[in-house]
Amino acid sequence: MEFDDSVMIPRAHAEKGAEHKQRMTLHCQQCSAVWGDSFSICGEVRSMDSIVCLRVTNDVVISDVLESGHGGELAGCIYSALKCRGCCCAVGKVIHSAPWRLASVRSMFLLHKANTSCYMLNHSSMVTASSLTFDLKPLGESMNKVTSKHFYLHVRHHDT
Ligand SMILES: [Zn+2]
Repeated sequence: MEFDDSVMIPRAHAEKGAEHKQRMTLHCQQCSAVWGDSFSICGEVRSMDSIVCLRVTNDVVISDVLESGHGGELAGCIYSALKCRGCCCAVGKVIHSAPWRLASVRSMFLLHKANTSCYMLNHSSMVTASSLTFDLKPLGESMNKVTSKHFYLHVRHHDT
């Protein structure tokens, strides 16, 4: 029996596309509570040493207190602090409103890399988030068929 090429080809493309994604979960460095996963990571803000996430888990507690930044990177931003439900350590911030230069992080969760560990599902190993770079790369022509997103997450591991 012959293989039906019209079915096989898209499947092979999908698998090739998946290789570009480093699948991981994000954890508290102190108590290992799960804070998020690679599907919600949108990149990083290098100047704030933070991973940008669309969503976080219930183990990340959002403070009721609204704070406003008066200087530095968060000048002009309204944000709330995030705490780990497991050990109460600082996770990062959620940005409620931001000036134009930080428009891309509005409504996003910023997880401080220094407090975050990443469990790499492909390698079954835990690494510090600080040893990874979370870049968004434009998608090539062929990958537009695989996903409707215009960017994919490219994670680089580097020695610190
Ligand atoms: Zn914790």
